[in-house]
Amino acid sequence: MIIDKKHSEDLEILGERIKLGESRKLNFNNARLFTGTAVEVPVFIERSINPGPTVLITAGIHGDEVNGIEIVREILTHKLNKPTRGTVICMPIVNIFGFINKSRFFPDGRDLNRQFPGNSKGSLASRFAYNFTKEILPLADFCMDFHTGGADRYNAAQIRIEHGNETVSQLAAVFNAPFTLYGNQIDGSYRELCYKMNIPILLNESGKSLSFDKSICKEALSGVKRVLAHLEMLSPKIEVPKVVEKSILIHETTWIRADFSGFLHVKTNLHDFVTKDQLIARISDPFGDMRHSVLAKNSGYIININQAPMVYQGDAIFHISTRTE
Ligand SMILES: [Zn+2]
Repeated sequence: MIIDKKHSEDLEILGERIKLGESRKLNFNNARLFTGTAVEVPVFIERSINPGPTVLITAGIHGDEVNGIEIVREILTHKLNKPTRGTVICMPIVNIFGFINKSRFFPDGRDLNRQFPGNSKGSLASRFAYNFTKEILPLADFCMDFHTGGADRYNAAQIRIEHGNETVSQLAAVFNAPFTLYGNQIDGSYRELCYKMNIPILLNESGKSLSFDKSICKEALSGVKRVLAHLEMLSPKIEVPKVVEKSILIHETTWIRADFSGFLHVKTNLHDFVTKDQLIARISDPFGDMRHSVLAKNSGYIININQAPMVYQGDAIFHISTRTE
């Protein structure tokens, strides 16, 4: 399966016309700081002389998810974005405001990933989403977006897709992350917008916010190489990593929450398959009075672990599969 091309000749983006074979770095200027300084969001465009599909690669929609930004940096450094046909557009830090502040959010306190498709008269984040939706997203035939777990919640490398979309399922199989999760769309998210605009998207989740993990970056880069090779866009000079183990398909998941507040001592690892009633953590108070065991409520794969040293009662501490294929 190869995505049909929509755009083959001149590409018009952000007021510029870019011919086949040209590359350009543009700025998606949309908003200013209090000081009046324009905040520039870099957009890297690489076009082959051969026509083909346009792939849009994004990270940093949540400004503190630096592992995703690192993955796109590696894509640029290793020139994976120089296609043998078609066009690759990279936006390594979509929410540059949040990135500067080491924050998930926009400076107006909004989560950009709940603002799509945005509104030209809305909040700062909503206006930004509107301009992105209008000026950049319609150019894409296929998108890859890189995220991490929020706060201290550490995601095993996973691709998130929706049920019933054959193209997306096939691309996820080619990407072959350790886990492929089927999940519902979140209102106002970038993934939901792509779905509504009929643009296939692979959403990669791996690692946690404000943290680097080289091995998890490598997993994602292998997936990107496999997908670009599948689309016949990857340079033959770049080796396509072989699939060693097939991705585990997860249809349903649940969160295990803390029943007590206190220190969290995790007794299992990411990727582990745990069995029902297995001890997976202990929660204790800092004074040695209380020690509570956390048992797995069902058998399943651990796909997220909260790495916070302390948790409150009700905090999500593990994400576990409940139905796999
Ligand atoms: Zn995110």
